Amino acid sequence: MDINVFRSWITSAAGVIETNRDHLTQLDAAIGDADHGINLSRGFTAVLAALDAKQPATPGAVLIVTGSTLISKVGGASGPLYGMAFRRAGQTLGTADEVDLPALGQALDAALAGIQQLGAAREGDKTLVDALAPATRALAKAIAEGATQGDALAAAVAAAAEGAAATVPMEARKGRASYLGPRSVGHEDPGAASTVLILAALRDAAAGDAGAGAP
Ligand code: ADP
Ligand code: MG
Repeated sequence: MDINVFRSWITSAAGVIETNRDHLTQLDAAIGDADHGINLSRGFTAVLAALDAKQPATPGAVLIVTGSTLISKVGGASGPLYGMAFRRAGQTLGTADEVDLPALGQALDAALAGIQQLGAAREGDKTLVDALAPATRALAKAIAEGATQGDALAAAVAAAAEGAAATVPMEARKGRASYLGPRSVGHEDPGAASTVLILAALRDAAAGDAGAGAP
């Protein structure tokens, strides 16, 4: 995967976030403050402008610009968390021009570690960690089993989607939704939902299929 795949990932992610902005905001209306779609839409719009202005030269640099922009432009919990994730992933890729599947797996592991370091959420707390953690495990398993790039990324997205669906019966223990206590039960976590969209955009970009949309 070269820089074009990574640019295409972020462009495609911005597109699916825009398409799903109202849906994400509605999820957040149920258990938060109704701004998740708005936050991410604003953030990714700024990211596209920053990528155009800065023209980063490597996959890692694309992800670092993405993360830094999300941190600076998005208020709310999700900006710093996603920002940290993209920055850590970009740092892990270093200055390589070409990223293979194991390197991408390491970058996603670093993204998850960064999110957990910053937000201290564990699986079961009803956050985006409930989508990202199973996705990283599914990717590692697929790599170990010798899966193709396409199959491995499809497995990661499927695991993320399952993880997001599994947040519905959970009671939130982190973030704004935790203020609701038991009343947070019965709704999908908005951040878990957006994580599925962002990973699906990666799968599509890697397949040369940017813009294919949500899973
Ligand atoms: P805010 O909650 O500040 O309004 P957003 O609505 O943009 O920010 O994002 C909410 C999402 O952020 C939640 O659905 C959840 O997935 C994620 N989130 C909140 N706190 C944490 C945390 N400590 N760790 C991981 N993810 C979190
Ligand atoms: Mg919110």
